[in-house]
Order: sequence, then C-alpha cells, then structure tokens
Amino acid sequence: MDSVRTDSSDTNHYDVIVLGVGGMGSATVCELAERGKKVLGIDRYDIPNTMGSSHGATRIIRMAYYQGGDYVTLVRSAFDLWRKLEQKTGETLLHVTGSIDAGLPDSEIVQGSLQSCREHNLEHQVLSGKELCEKFPGYQFPEEVQGIFQADGGVLFADKIIKAYVRLAQQYGAEIHANEQVTQWHAADNSVTVITEHGQYTADKLVITAGPWFSKMMSHLPEMVAPERQVVAWFDPIKPELFNPSHFPVFNLLLGEGHYYGFPVYDETGFKFGRAHHLNEIVDPDTMNREVSDYDKKIVRQGAEKFFPEGAGDMLDSATCIYTNTEDEHFIIGTLPESPQVSFAGGFSGHGFKFCSVMGEIMADLAEHGKTQHDIELFRLDRFTGVGQK
Ligand SMILES: Cc1cc2nc3c(=O)[nH]c(=O)nc-3n(C[C@H](O)[C@H](O)[C@H](O)COP(=O)(O)OP(=O)(O)OC[C@H]3O[C@@H](n4cnc5c(N)ncnc54)[C@H](O)[C@@H]3O)c2cc1C
Repeated sequence: MDSVRTDSSDTNHYDVIVLGVGGMGSATVCELAERGKKVLGIDRYDIPNTMGSSHGATRIIRMAYYQGGDYVTLVRSAFDLWRKLEQKTGETLLHVTGSIDAGLPDSEIVQGSLQSCREHNLEHQVLSGKELCEKFPGYQFPEEVQGIFQADGGVLFADKIIKAYVRLAQQYGAEIHANEQVTQWHAADNSVTVITEHGQYTADKLVITAGPWFSKMMSHLPEMVAPERQVVAWFDPIKPELFNPSHFPVFNLLLGEGHYYGFPVYDETGFKFGRAHHLNEIVDPDTMNREVSDYDKKIVRQGAEKFFPEGAGDMLDSATCIYTNTEDEHFIIGTLPESPQVSFAGGFSGHGFKFCSVMGEIMADLAEHGKTQHDIELFRLDRFTGVGQK
C-alpha cells in the first residue's frame, strides 16, 4: 500500500467513501449519511444501472432459507429495515406474496427450507405437487414435487429501492458521484486515498461494494468470486388472472433440469422467469456479452412452458444480469486484516438483494466501529484467504 498525505480540512476529504452504489452501496451511503457522516458514494455507471447485479424492477425476499438457517435472523432484520425505509420514503417497496421452495422431497431446497422454518419457528405449509397446483393454479408442477409455502416471502422493488436510498442519502447530506470510475485505491496509516478518472479523494474509511467487480477492486487478494452471466425474461401470460400477485407466490423450483425462479405480474412488466446459473458462463464483467441470444431465450422459454404453461405467452422483454459467486455461495463481508479502515461486502452469489437494507447497517457499523452486532461469522474472508480477520 502506498503512503499518502491526508488533510482532513480538505473539501475532498470524507469520513467514508463507498466504492460502488448498487444495492449494497446505496443502502450503506444512506445509513452512513443518516448517522451524520460526511460520505461520498462513487459509481462508474448511472445509478441505478443495468451493468451490475441489482437492476430490474423486482427481487425475491423470503424468510425460509434453504441455503442455511443462519440467514433467517439476518432476513428478519432486513424485513424490519425494509418496512422502516417504506415509512421514511412513503413508498411501497416490499409486497408480500408468500414464497414457495420446491423440488423433490429429499432435495436440498426442500429439506433446507424445511429445516430453516423449524429452527426459527416460521409458520409454513408442506404441499404436494398436486396441492400446490390447486392452491396456485398458475403453477403446473409434477406430482412428485413437494413445496414449502411460507407466507412472509414476497417481492422487493429493486430499482425503486436504489433510487429511494440515493434520494434519502442526498437529503441527509451525502455526496454521490455517478459515471465516475474508481481506478485505484490505497490505504495507509489511518486513511485511504481513492483515485478516479476525474480526481482524487481521501477518507478515514473506505467501503468496497463493487458487486461483480469485487475481485478487480480487491486485486491484492486471491480471487474469491466468479462473476456469472444470467438471463431473465418477461412473458405475457396467456391467463393473466393466474399470475396476479394476490395468488401467485414468488418461487424457487430446483429439479434435475434446472433451478428456476419467478414472480407474479406487476403492472405492465409481465411474468418474470429465469433459470439460476442459466448456462454456467463465468465472465469478466467488463467484456461480458450483454445481448440476449435466441438460444438464451429458448432455454428460458423451455422452463416457463414446462412449469407455467399458462404464463409463457409472448416474450415481452429479456435482460442479462450478473451473479457474483463464491465457492460455497455464502457472502464475503469484513474488514481487511492489514488495513481495518477498509471494509468490503461481496460474493452475494445470486441471493443478496433481500439483505441490502441490513447490509447498509452492517457496512456502516464496520466503517464506524470496525465491528457489528449482526452475526456475520458465516461470511468471514479468512475462510478463503486463511489470513486472520478481526
Ligand atoms: C438475474 C438475477 C436475479 C436475482 N434475483 C435475486 C432475488 O430474487 N433475490 C435476492 O435476494 N437476490 C437476487 N439476486 C442477487 C442480487 O441482485 C445481488 O446479490 C445484489 O444485487 C448485489 O448487489 P451489489 O451491490 O453487491 O452489486 P451491484 O448492484 O452490481 O453494485 C455494484 C456497483 O459497483 C459499481 N462499481 C464496480 N466497480 C466500480 C469502480 N471501479 N468504480 C466505481 N463503481 C464501481 C458498479 O457500477 C455497480 O453499480 C439476483 C441477481 C441476478 C443477476
């Protein structure tokens, strides 16, 4: 790390700089500004943009958590904070539809979801394939499928949320720079210097929330994440009444042919449907093919037609997006052992958005105090680096 001179009376000096103002960064900037910090958020693209991981109208939030019961406590905190954000902004940002986790009865998704419900006393129902289709007639799942219905799950309005965080952060006094790429950062003594294509800034603390560019912004560490190209599509349902949010829960369906997820229809956007890990394409976010090919569309349509035949009418739209996967699909959150003034959050592995609200709190805690009361043990950096972490 280079040694740098910092002058805290400089107008280019901040308490905290947040590198990357996507889902995680926008929540972090907002929380820090609300705590009275002089904060600068910098993003290389528009805010929100369609280049990273957080774009589009919707993301699933679910309380039942097949990836591990440890997440449930964090989702509970996230839920509370989403409701608080709605109160602060007067906007509807979360809509409850209930959630379904479905697969073969002994599958990881069904057993994991069930276990998380039992561990955390979450009310839930275990439904057979036939019962699922009767209760939610938009679904056409095979009879051998089992689904866990958990009533608290639902939809977060992602683009609206990022805009709300940024607007609120600015009201609290945050400075936000869009379309300004960070090219380098250095930590020295008790400060950081951030160099962009437009200038240089110093701060007491740096928070790195660079999404798919996590490894590029943490290039002194071993590569721990693999950005992966995703494709989602929106269909015009043949029977729109079956895809109404009042009786179409968000779902994850894991079967031999793939892991599918989807949402009810909101306004004019259509039935959103995707196959997680789409074609298993590991990419460089700077050079990824962002066009949706006919083959991409065919793969998505196949799943939609098979499990939601009344939903798979004309394809209204499609888009690419990026997962940032770790090997164990758990996040990476902490402070750098050698430079504790630098904290980071990445590797959200395709399931991070629902946590943005609580991540704002966690990252602000790490920047302000170097620790947080939230349990982030599962996300330790040293499980990959082997280097001690506070
Ligand atoms: C298709 C798809 C579906 C998903 N569905 C769900 C879901 O249903 N539920 C759920 O919880 N999660 C879901 N996820 C995952 C979730 O969206 C992500 O985990 C989350 O959005 C990650 O947010 P982030 O802030 O880490 O990344 P991003 O939102 O990508 O933010 C990173 C930001 O950093 C900026 N940046 C990077 N490098 C620089 C630089 N050098 N200088 C300045 N700025 C920089 C980028 O421009 C970007 O804006 C999904 C993801 C995808 C792709």
